[in-house]
Amino acid sequence: MIESLYLHIPFCSYKCPYCDFVSVLEGDIKSYLEALEREIEFYKDEEANLKTVYLGGGTPTLLEPSDIGRILEVVLEGFPYSEPLEITVECNPETYRYKEFKTINSFGVNRLSVGVQSFLEKGLKALGRMHTSEDSIKTISDALDAGIKNVSLDLIYAYPGQEQEDLLKELEILSELPVRHVSAYMLTAYENTRMGKLINEGKLETPSELELTKIYESLWKGLKDLGFKRYEISNWAKEGAVCRHNLNYWERKEFIGLGVSAWGFVNGIRYGNTRNLNLYMEKLNRGLSPVEHKKVIDEREAYEEEVFLGLRLVRGIDRNLVKIPAELFPFLAFPDGRVAIREEYMLLADEIISQILYYNDIPEKKEVSRYG
Ligand code: SF4
Repeated sequence: MIESLYLHIPFCSYKCPYCDFVSVLEGDIKSYLEALEREIEFYKDEEANLKTVYLGGGTPTLLEPSDIGRILEVVLEGFPYSEPLEITVECNPETYRYKEFKTINSFGVNRLSVGVQSFLEKGLKALGRMHTSEDSIKTISDALDAGIKNVSLDLIYAYPGQEQEDLLKELEILSELPVRHVSAYMLTAYENTRMGKLINEGKLETPSELELTKIYESLWKGLKDLGFKRYEISNWAKEGAVCRHNLNYWERKEFIGLGVSAWGFVNGIRYGNTRNLNLYMEKLNRGLSPVEHKKVIDEREAYEEEVFLGLRLVRGIDRNLVKIPAELFPFLAFPDGRVAIREEYMLLADEIISQILYYNDIPEKKEVSRYG
C-alpha cells in the first residue's frame, strides 16, 4: 500500500556551490506543473492510501501559493488519503512571508521545512547562501503565525571554517525559536559541484577531524539539552513532530516519486525519473513515462535495504536480522532485542553499516547517506 507521495520542484533562484540536486535557475514553471499533472495519471490505478505528501526541491516556495494549491488539489483528487495527512513544503527563507503561508495552510500544508542551513553570517557566506539569519527567523515566525504549526529547519554543519563555538552560537539562536523538528546534515560537497572541486584542489578546507568531532558532539548533546529527541542519523524532533514522510522511506514503505530526477518505490520496484528537465517535459508532452531506471527488488535486496535503512534509525533493527563482528560491539547498543548504532558514533554510521553489511555477505559497499 502506497502511503507517501513526493513531488520534486526543480526551480531555484541561485545555485548553491555544494548542491548536486537537479535544479535550474530559469524554467517554464507553468509547463512543468502541467507535466507533473500528466505524470500523476501514470500512478492513478496504484493501490494507495496517502498519509504524507512532500513538495521538495529545488525551491517549492518559488511557486505561487495558488500553484501549490493546484498541485495538492490534483494529488488529493487522484489518490485516496487518510487524515491526518502530513503535507510538507520545503521553503527557502527569502521566499514566502505570512500571507503566502496563510494561503498554503488553507490548502492543507501543515508542515514546513525551512532551509536555514546556518544562522551565522559566517556560515551563510561559507555555504554561498543568499538569505540572512533574519530572513530565517522571520520565515519561521510568519509560518507559525499563519497556522503552520509544525516547522522544521535544516542546518548544515562542518562547512569550511566552522569551529565548535560557531555551532554553539547556532544552538543558542535555535533555543529561542519555537521549532519542533531539526534536520542537521554534515556538509557533503560532491565532486561535480563548485565547492567539491575547490575542496579537491585544496583551495578550500573543511574542519579537521578533531574539530569535526567537537562540532558533532556539541550538536547532538546541544539538541538533546534543548529537548529534541533524535530518531534518525540526521533528524531530531520534539514530542509528536517526527517527520512521517521521511520515516516511511527508512521503514521501506512504498511511495510515489514525481518530477524530474525523482525516485519512487512502487509494487516492489524502485524507479528513478530522468534528471534531464527538457527530456522529462518532452516525454510527458508525448504521453510517455519519464522513468529512466527500474529495479525489481528481490528478497535478498529487500533484506539489505531493511538492514541499511533500519540502522539509520535510533531504534535500529531486530537483533536477529544480522550477525555482528565483535570489533563493532563498542559502537552499538542492544536495547530490547534490537541492535542500534550508539548516538555518539552516528557520525561513523556509513562505515559501521558498511561493515555490518559486508560481514553479512553483502559485499557491495552502499553509500548509505544517499538514502536520507
Ligand atoms: S536552494 Fe537547495 S536545491 Fe536550490 S541550489 Fe541551493 S541547495 Fe540546491
